[in-house]
Amino acid sequence: MAYVINDECISCGACAGECPVSAISEGDGKYVIDAATCIDCGNCSNVCPVGAPQAE
Ligand code: SF4
Ligand code: SF4
Repeated sequence: MAYVINDECISCGACAGECPVSAISEGDGKYVIDAATCIDCGNCSNVCPVGAPQAE
């Protein structure tokens, strides 16, 4: 299980600093989560202004 950032992402960067395992990085047009690193804590979803990170 991991969170996935959908296309609603506006690349604000707020989520990256809240991830305890540094699984989030800036991608092409949106931020992306490394599924192998994500521990499903939900921090990114909680801080995102547009609700882009979703539990898969
Ligand atoms: Fe990082 Fe938690 Fe979001 Fe996974 S759910 S990417 S561990 S902040
Ligand atoms: Fe994208 Fe939301 Fe992360 Fe901002 S907080 S970079 S909008 S996923």
